[in-house]
Formats: sequence, C-alpha cells, structure tokens
Amino acid sequence: MPVKILVKCPYCNTTEISKNGSTPQGKQRYRCYNPKCTRRSFIIDYTNIGYLPKIKEKIVSMSMNGSGVRDTSRVLSVSLGLVINELKKKSGQYKKSKSKKTHKQIK
Ligand SMILES: [Zn+2]
Repeated sequence: MPVKILVKCPYCNTTEISKNGSTPQGKQRYRCYNPKCTRRSFIIDYTNIGYLPKIKEKIVSMSMNGSGVRDTSRVLSVSLGLVINELKKKSGQYKKSKSKKTHKQIK
C-alpha cells in the first residue's frame, strides 16, 4: 500500500503549496502560497516529514498492524528514533482505549 504524504509548509502549516522543482540532491522543492509565510519555498526532507501529523498516524497504524519499528522507519523514510518516540507517546493512549489486540512490544 503506497504511503500518502500530506505535504504542508513546515513554517506556516498551510497546504497551499505546489511542487517547485527539485534540489541537486534530488529532494522535492515546494513553493508556499501563504502571503504571510516568511518562507517562499522549502524542501521536504526526512526531518520535516517527521513532524507531519499524518506520518505520526502512519507510524502508529503500522505498529498496530504488526510492523516492527525498523520496517516502519524504512517504509515511511523517517528515523528510527522518531518511530520509537511516537510509539512511546502513543502507547499510553492505546491502553486506555479498547483494543483487545496488544500491539507489538517496542524494542
Ligand atoms: Zn509557508
């Protein structure tokens, strides 16, 4: 299943952006259309992706589906540390809510 990444401007959080070519390193460059934004263009790299809420949701849902943290970090192109952090943050919430299935232990 392809991972859909919702791209937002990391500076102002608008989704009013468009692709604007790429950097010599092959990273996608985006242009922000928010007139109040201090940045006109930005690059989504792994670090920025990590801050996107959608990715965090993906991390959690992949873990619920039995993916290990290494798989998750590889598939989502985020750092292992980020995955572990997210799961730690979320694990408390999941214990409170239903869920008969215990999700994999984080190692
Ligand atoms: Zn912006």
